[in-house]
Amino acid sequence: MSSPSSPAYSRLLSSLRRAHVLESVASVLGWDEQVNLPEGSVACRAEQMTVLAEILHAAATDPDFDAALRELEATPGALEPDASVIVRLARRDFDRAVRLPSRFVAEKARLQSEAYHAWAENRRNSTFSPYAPYLEQHLALAREEAVFQGWGDRAYDYAIDRHDPGMTTERVDALFTELKIGLLPLVREIVAGTRPTAPGLFRGFPVAGQQAFLREVTAALGFDYRRGRIDVSLHPFCGGSPADVRMTTRFDVDNPLDSLFSSIHETGHGLYEQGLRAEHLGTPLGQSVGMGVHESQSRLWENQVSRSRAFWTHFESRFRAHFPEQTAAVDSETLYRAINAVEPTLIRVDSDEVTYNLHILLRFEIEQRLFRGDLKVADLPAAWNALSTELLGLTPPSDRLGVLQDVHWSGGAFGYFPSYCIGNMMAAQLWYTALAAFPGLEADFARGDFSRLLGWLRTEIHHQGRRYDTQELVLRVTGEPLSPRHLLRYLRERYLPLADARR
Ligand code: ZN
Repeated sequence: MSSPSSPAYSRLLSSLRRAHVLESVASVLGWDEQVNLPEGSVACRAEQMTVLAEILHAAATDPDFDAALRELEATPGALEPDASVIVRLARRDFDRAVRLPSRFVAEKARLQSEAYHAWAENRRNSTFSPYAPYLEQHLALAREEAVFQGWGDRAYDYAIDRHDPGMTTERVDALFTELKIGLLPLVREIVAGTRPTAPGLFRGFPVAGQQAFLREVTAALGFDYRRGRIDVSLHPFCGGSPADVRMTTRFDVDNPLDSLFSSIHETGHGLYEQGLRAEHLGTPLGQSVGMGVHESQSRLWENQVSRSRAFWTHFESRFRAHFPEQTAAVDSETLYRAINAVEPTLIRVDSDEVTYNLHILLRFEIEQRLFRGDLKVADLPAAWNALSTELLGLTPPSDRLGVLQDVHWSGGAFGYFPSYCIGNMMAAQLWYTALAAFPGLEADFARGDFSRLLGWLRTEIHHQGRRYDTQELVLRVTGEPLSPRHLLRYLRERYLPLADARR
């Protein structure tokens, strides 16, 4: 059987490892760009990133890589089970990389950079039309890419599969339709019974105190700060690589919960990366499945765990210890309700976990229409505003607060948004599975102990790498196909008791 000692397998592993190292360099440079880069050095970084992208594409399409794969594929029965998974997925990645002409890769990279700056400027000015041609070009490239990859006119299926392997438009549509039917009346019921958080409830939380508290929380959840760090950026994200995770957050002295929950969210991503098996680093068995599964990890820690009463049974006194004066007038129930406040908002990234899903339903609908050709780019703002009114009950007063709010399309990242909602559904499904498997799990949280949940996620999700696609993984871990029922149940159980309108 082919093991790490077979020459072809060793060559494959070293090719994979080299590509991974290059990617990790690009990822740290990308993190640095958003955390540290001086304004005047943007052009220098763009040049570094372009050269690195070329080297990366060359490494991913290296003929030696192909030769090693061919040799191993010639005797498939001789491969050990893990090696066979690695060869199968490495072949898929290699073929996908090699099918794209370098001309196309360069053109897309150039457009991504130009469109990003056009987006940022037009978002600032709230002007859509000058940005529209960039979206037209991205759509054209997305269609061209699907053809190169052999997906023909199924360009949107390809876009979805890129982010969540094995998922299709039809499957996502079925899941989202069922979710929408349950969610719309639930949102109405919760919102009708909930009083908005009193303005000015939280004031003057020093950044140093917020930093100390979030570090205490995220370390307790299991993040290993010897192999990662958290810094500040405009938009929180998690980058780096499994051996060097780079998370970011942001601080607002009058909104400590925003920073805390953003940090916990990114920690969920970080825990997944740190949980990938070190011996498979750089191979498909040492990589995350896709965006939906990644998002399930961040959401589970952010929402199901850290917005729970059990979590705050442990951390409330710690929070008060860091901010004695600022929290003196806030009683426990008011704090818990502020943590779980539900209020529709125009901006996806500012929304609560209940109405968040409506933002994704909107974007999925828009993307489908764009790819079907039913919607022209020029008509995007009007379509966006109409759907926002229909789903959220809010009409954007400007494109900055509507169609221009997200960065994703400027990078050509169509088919990405559904992952957020897939992640929400999966998080709730994993949550109920974990609760059934571990009686007393929430009592652990009340003592500040998260190790049983993390241990289970490590074994069931993190250690699997890309062995299973999104839907196979959910079925395997929870015993049933991905379904929105668990998310709806969770939202009902957590939020309806708070929607009593009596306080
Ligand atoms: Zn996330």
